[in-house]
Amino acid sequence: MGSSTLSLNCPVCGVAASQACTRCKLVRYCDREHQKQHWPQHKRCCRPFREEQDPQLGRYLVATQDIAANQIIFVEPPLVVGPKWYLSEAEKEAPIVPCVGCYTPCRVGKHQCRSCHWPVCSPACTHEALECSVLSLGPAPAGRADARSLNDYFRGDALLVLKCLLLQRQNPEKWAALLEMQSHEEERQGTELHEEAEKRVVSYLDKRFLRRLRQTKPNLLEESGTQLLHRLCGIIETNYMVIELPTGVELSGLFRQACMMEHACQPNCYFQFDTISQQIAVRAGGNLRKGDHLQITYTNILWGTQMRQHHLRMTKHFTCHCPRCTDPTEYGSYVSALACLGDVNQTCSGTHLPVDPVEEDTQWKCNTCPMIVDAAYVSELQTHMTDQVEGMLAGCPRANEVELLLARLSQMLHPNHFHMFNLKHTLIQLYGNEAGLELASLSSGQLERKLRLCNELYDVCRRLDPYSIKLAIYVTVILIEIAHALEEQARRAPAEGASLLEQAQARLKEAQEVMVKEHDSVAGKKLSDKLQREIFDCEKLVLTLAYNK
Ligand SMILES: [Zn+2]
Ligand SMILES: [Zn+2]
Ligand SMILES: [Zn+2]
Ligand SMILES: [Zn+2]
Ligand SMILES: [Zn+2]
Ligand SMILES: [Zn+2]
Repeated sequence: MGSSTLSLNCPVCGVAASQACTRCKLVRYCDREHQKQHWPQHKRCCRPFREEQDPQLGRYLVATQDIAANQIIFVEPPLVVGPKWYLSEAEKEAPIVPCVGCYTPCRVGKHQCRSCHWPVCSPACTHEALECSVLSLGPAPAGRADARSLNDYFRGDALLVLKCLLLQRQNPEKWAALLEMQSHEEERQGTELHEEAEKRVVSYLDKRFLRRLRQTKPNLLEESGTQLLHRLCGIIETNYMVIELPTGVELSGLFRQACMMEHACQPNCYFQFDTISQQIAVRAGGNLRKGDHLQITYTNILWGTQMRQHHLRMTKHFTCHCPRCTDPTEYGSYVSALACLGDVNQTCSGTHLPVDPVEEDTQWKCNTCPMIVDAAYVSELQTHMTDQVEGMLAGCPRANEVELLLARLSQMLHPNHFHMFNLKHTLIQLYGNEAGLELASLSSGQLERKLRLCNELYDVCRRLDPYSIKLAIYVTVILIEIAHALEEQARRAPAEGASLLEQAQARLKEAQEVMVKEHDSVAGKKLSDKLQREIFDCEKLVLTLAYNK
């Protein structure tokens, strides 16, 4: 998030200033006089929201005035920042892990903290003293172990819970704020989540560290029982935010205010994390109106409603009733819609949509004929297709293979269905890049298909995420491919070249604006670099075509 976020200079006289506005802490002044002088201007963006409470939503945040796109709404330090809460199977055996002190990626087993033996990036790197002393109580890992067993020995998810637990000693104020957060303890009882937490975190922490801690330093923590540990697991699960560092390391963070933001399947806010201060800055995704709820998304917005609902119910214990979830067409995107198969006597070109999308066992009705299918059929179909699509995409398929699967799935799915979306998003990158399918070798039909697919995908992205908060990378890839296709058309038809290239340049410029939200991530950085080269290449082409005229 860099230096642009918080100015260190007085906005009135430009002199280095030290007195922060106590209300928002986002501006600093050299003295009271200049602060007063600036207030008529500053009050338009000073803490432009308030907390509200509602029996259904719990606590949430509401804009108290209009907020411009990308404006910082608030900045806040974390209650806790720690390792990733869910490791993928690959991560569980990865030899590179984040340093326990500074989260720099390091080789597990290379350097270790002298006291607790947890992995650090260099012998000089240290971590928080109390945490280290508790970790030191654990037994040492067996002599020579492989990465998987070492990772299983030094469990980041458990460390995140320990970091929460130690707040009761380190920072009673943060501890109180943490315990005010929702944990959904009762709903978790007897679920897989609870069982998993018991195995991976609670009994691990209790057996290895906390029992010994209670024996050796009985007064250090007032409370450290397993019930409290389960409650902390629930609090993390319900509230944690994913923080991606520029190194690619993913962390989990708990923030008092940011975690109050409501979930919606179309977010209007996004956040950036400052690695050095560990503060989070929440920004407006688009222009917000007074009275708008501040919303972020806790699930994958490219999934259809059934999958998002399932995920939210399993991990966050609520049913989402946002406008997207209650709209069977999902803002006209049709990303869950199925193609009607008709009946034995007659084929049908209609579309099946859920009658009551937020109900797990909703019926799906055709919008043209009387056909109805049930939820079990749809979910079986979805699972079967997920396997096929993921299986294919994992294997670096060729364009003709993707086309074949698309053709097969199109008999059962709406052209915008999220499985179709994924396949098409892969396809637009193959046309023009695959060996034998370079831009210059595409037939004009293929080139038009590429462009048509791009436009379809772009339309879906705009409907689902008009501010490009979650889909910035997807949208940028699409815009670059649109530019490629337009450039190739310009090369082939020099007469219309100028206007085609003008369009291409406009799309690349649009991509640049979209990428503002993704500057911090690894994938974002890479794509931004690529985008710069694309813009340069496009300019070169404009000059070349003008010269050859
Ligand atoms: Zn001043
Ligand atoms: Zn202020
Ligand atoms: Zn380190
Ligand atoms: Zn240590
Ligand atoms: Zn929703
Ligand atoms: Zn039908």
